[in-house]
Amino acid sequence: MTEETPARVNMEKIVSLCQRRGFIFPGSEIYGGLSSCWDYGPLGVELKRNVKEAWWRAVVQERDDVIGLDASILMHPRTWAASGHLEGFADPLVECKGCHLRWRSDELEGDRCPSCGGELTEPRLFNLMFKTFMGPVEEEASVVYLRPETAQGMFVNFQNVVNTTRKRLPFGIAQIGKAFRNEITTGNFIFRSREFEQMEIEFFVKPGTDEEWFNYWLEERLNWYVKLGIKRENLRLREHTKGELAHYAKVCYDIDYLFPMGWAELEGVANRGDFDLVQHASFSGKSLDYFDDDTKERFIPYIIEPSAGVDRSFLALLCDAYDEEPDKEEIRVLLHLHPALAPFKVAVLPLSRREQLVKAAKEIYADLRQCWMVSYDDAQSIGRRYRRQDEIGTPFCVTIDFQSLEDKQVTIRERDSMNQIRIPIAELKSTLEAKLSGEDLFVLPPGGQIWKEDD
Ligand code: ATP
Repeated sequence: MTEETPARVNMEKIVSLCQRRGFIFPGSEIYGGLSSCWDYGPLGVELKRNVKEAWWRAVVQERDDVIGLDASILMHPRTWAASGHLEGFADPLVECKGCHLRWRSDELEGDRCPSCGGELTEPRLFNLMFKTFMGPVEEEASVVYLRPETAQGMFVNFQNVVNTTRKRLPFGIAQIGKAFRNEITTGNFIFRSREFEQMEIEFFVKPGTDEEWFNYWLEERLNWYVKLGIKRENLRLREHTKGELAHYAKVCYDIDYLFPMGWAELEGVANRGDFDLVQHASFSGKSLDYFDDDTKERFIPYIIEPSAGVDRSFLALLCDAYDEEPDKEEIRVLLHLHPALAPFKVAVLPLSRREQLVKAAKEIYADLRQCWMVSYDDAQSIGRRYRRQDEIGTPFCVTIDFQSLEDKQVTIRERDSMNQIRIPIAELKSTLEAKLSGEDLFVLPPGGQIWKEDD
């Protein structure tokens, strides 16, 4: 985190919404929770899947120069010697002699314990990797680590990918997966935890073209957040100072987001040079160079790495989408989530629980579920049900009323404007599909009409 900025939405509101509506629960809650571990609930799992899906779509599906990988979390221990994590992946830590709380000395302002004011020990380096044992014997030889980043899986598979896909430079490998860091200071909800998910690209380029590709990816990644609805003024680029720069990086920028607690890193984009492939070639004894058929040159590619966090993206998207509007005597809470991200795309709401209405509504519900995640709600007044859907970001509500049984029409209500149209049931799927892709609500299908502006 860097300098203070006035909060737009406070974290308590986000945490409360997440717990109240089932986006995120404290991990192992019935046992009192486990520090900084979080469980994604029924709505959270959908939003999280959609974030990953949107990333995969943008960086793999829609491109022909990036392919995917899903490497094992446990890797050969030599990987971490080669990568520098065994030696370098450590934070300086001090412990309070009074209350025994531990702190990162580089984050402390004074020289006393921030909690009790007690005296602190000398800093010592604390490795952030989680250790575990492979096989039944707990001895040094069987020590393995939970990966602290997904990146290494892509470096060690570089040659496998080149050989099997016949990809030529420049090309990238993309991966989404869990990473684990025994962080000393966690907090700010899911912003910093010990188990989290990353979405990383390792983009291999010819040395000399690296600066151009670095700039390309920085721009590309920034735009991804903007396309998903994050306001541009809440994003900024920040170059790492010489002191911050990781041992492997030639240059690195953070894409920062204005979180409730201030500006903080959402994603890092680094030019890693040839560090990784040189290291793995030297530690494994295997050649990791590349032969350029056109120029007949042999060289070690440079790597540009955009490294994003799933959980931090989730939090930023949620904070940015959160809104409160005055609504009669109450406050309307709504999430302006991009339709691609919303946990439910549509909610089906019969006006009452009368048998005929429920039957018609259930038929529509079953039909729409073939295409999207759809919610069904018949409890309480229609107004309350609309508010419940607004609060979880459902872009469209379909209401079935008594007239629907006669005229075979239903209303569609849009979350953000609250405007409504009435259309034939036969046109429902295609209309929803068009609206979810961004078509204006008032572009009507045959037989459709504007029903109500606002509720
Ligand atoms: P920070 O400086 O905030 O600790 P970092 O620079 O160590 O982050 P990277 O190693 O660049 O982070 O990891 C890439 C991305 O992975 C980060 O931008 C972030 O989105 C995510 N990430 C890293 N550590 C955590 C964590 N402890 N909890 C949640 N996400 C994380």
